[in-house]
Amino acid sequence: MSRAVLRLTPYKISEDRTSMPTYGAVCVRGDDADCGAESGQHVDTKPVDQWMARHTAQTGHDRYQQVFLSYATVALKDGPSLEAVKRS
Ligand SMILES: [Zn+2]
Repeated sequence: MSRAVLRLTPYKISEDRTSMPTYGAVCVRGDDADCGAESGQHVDTKPVDQWMARHTAQTGHDRYQQVFLSYATVALKDGPSLEAVKRS
């Protein structure tokens, strides 16, 4: 049996500021199963809030899963980017 030697490499995970985070909501209220209606993704919370209010008024559904999506970058801490590492 061979033993694997793992080396831990410190990585820094940062928010990717070249892209905008997005917000959305999914209706999770329903009789037998979650409704599943979705607001779509928006760069502002206002259209999502308006969609939830409209959906509640139309259906009576009053429970949502709110979704926040953002992008992240990963780089070696105090070192070259992963792309630079792959090339070497
Ligand atoms: Zn619904």
